[in-house]
Amino acid sequence: MTDPILEVEDLNVYYGKSHALKGVSLSIDEGEIYGVIGPNGAGKTTMLNAIAGFVDYEGTIRYRGTDLATVNPQQIVRDGLIYCTEDRDLFPFFSVHENLLMGAQFREDRDAVQDDLDMVYELFPRLDERREQEAETMSGGEQQMLAVGRALMSDPDMLMLDEPTLGLAPVIIQDISDALERLSEQGLTILLAEQNSTFALRHAERLSLIETGEIELAGTYEEFHDNEYVREAYVGVH
Ligand code: ATP
Repeated sequence: MTDPILEVEDLNVYYGKSHALKGVSLSIDEGEIYGVIGPNGAGKTTMLNAIAGFVDYEGTIRYRGTDLATVNPQQIVRDGLIYCTEDRDLFPFFSVHENLLMGAQFREDRDAVQDDLDMVYELFPRLDERREQEAETMSGGEQQMLAVGRALMSDPDMLMLDEPTLGLAPVIIQDISDALERLSEQGLTILLAEQNSTFALRHAERLSLIETGEIELAGTYEEFHDNEYVREAYVGVH
């Protein structure tokens, strides 16, 4: 047994008096896709924001054994834990190509950066066709691909994806789905936060269900798939 790549222990986040995350714990193994599902406002984004160091929290978050409270968000990125936010945070007036290069800004090995550019363009041919197009003029799905592509340019060991399918057409969701499968086959660890439980269940090996800031259920894909409450409340609604 190797140690988990990410360990979250008794995580609590408060927004003023509002207790947004209430003692959340989970651990993610290297190379797995871990799904976090739950309704709007349950606390999924808050959890990813805490891991990325964007919000204050109580509790412990360890990445490869390092307590993330002791490192700044930039160092977390350098250590290979990359966050693709729900807002995508693209540079709207930069081209596709420039946005991708921004993802590699902390890297020095130019050959490796070029290899990853080639890999991203091969993974998402739509980006290849639109290298010079400004990010803000891309469709929602293309922007999501660009956000994932830019995250890949940071050479992640672990990728956190917040709602990558939100608002996207089924055909685009399929493209994102295919890309995740390929990345997972290459050994990338993925933490996937999704309201779209069907999508999360399609990919995740293990999952947690968060409701009102608490983990209500955690288990394997099979346990979630067979769980009556999950099926009734969450599956088939997308
Ligand atoms: P969604 O799928 O809608 O993004 P979520 O599961 O990611 O939902 P969060 O965005 O983490 O949920 O929100 C959890 C709770 O914390 C919600 O009640 C939300 O209103 C609240 N919240 C989130 N960010 C802030 C903030 N900056 N200030 C105050 N309250 C916040």
